[in-house]
Amino acid sequence: MSEFSWIETYFRPLAQAHPESLQLQDDAALLECPANTQLVITTDMLHEGVHFLAGTTPHLIAQKALRCNLSDLAAMGAVAFGYTLALGLPRHTDAAWLADFTAGLAADQQTFGCGLLGGDTTATLGPLSIAITAYGHIPHGKAHRRTGAQIGDDIYVSGPIGDAYIGLRMAKGELPADNAMIARYELPMPRLELGVRLQGLATACLDISDGLLQDMEHICTASSCAAALDASHIPLSPTAHQLMGAGHIHLPELLAGGDDYELLFTASPMSRLALDKIPGLTRIGTIRQGSGLTLYDAHGDILPINSKGYQHFK
Ligand SMILES: [Mg+2]
Repeated sequence: MSEFSWIETYFRPLAQAHPESLQLQDDAALLECPANTQLVITTDMLHEGVHFLAGTTPHLIAQKALRCNLSDLAAMGAVAFGYTLALGLPRHTDAAWLADFTAGLAADQQTFGCGLLGGDTTATLGPLSIAITAYGHIPHGKAHRRTGAQIGDDIYVSGPIGDAYIGLRMAKGELPADNAMIARYELPMPRLELGVRLQGLATACLDISDGLLQDMEHICTASSCAAALDASHIPLSPTAHQLMGAGHIHLPELLAGGDDYELLFTASPMSRLALDKIPGLTRIGTIRQGSGLTLYDAHGDILPINSKGYQHFK
């Protein structure tokens, strides 16, 4: 099948409901933004063997690629409306693979209310690579930056930490498998609705992709401040507690593990009343003067931090 008939069969249906795509008939998309909004743009690239394991279904690969991008929009507080897709496909890729891949995208377009705006497909001699650029909009001046944390702010996370790390270890056969945990790694949930609700409340925000500790440091560096985290307040799933109790995993691994895609944000203590009404949030620490990150146990003693998270260039 030619590139053009692949576009016709598999990609055009993903663009149909979204007029900005011009039905993929022109050389580029034409975007309209509602009045008084800013365009929010993010790109994430995924490679087989680095971001997903060989053998993962095309359906899941497509969803993870799109969701990583949507999670970045969520961190900024944006409403998602579309994405472009650049695919480097190994030469043995067939129509069945593409059908499953685009079915994954179609499902998530329904879930998250966004559509395909354009893209490119090429053959590659290397492993599969996927680059998605996602587009969202946000009322002018309302985007959450990493630079906004203030001394005295509370620090929050939107859900359990380390489940994706546990899911990855399970998918690799290193821990007894539990499908719900593997899904936390393979199929992250971008916190788009939460991101919008945090407009006007979060002073700084990001999505946790490199590990809680490393991502916390990103906020500290950008905002020129320090963070004090209470290890005993950091939310962990029942499975994480169980595996820790049995000695299979340890807290530092969970705090350094990536791919959770929960939101990590700071907010003024004056916002506590408003934030208490949002389900799923946990207050885990405080922003202080200085630099860097300190982790405290339940007795107020400092816990040593060794590896802070996933790094691509080691
Ligand atoms: Mg991010």
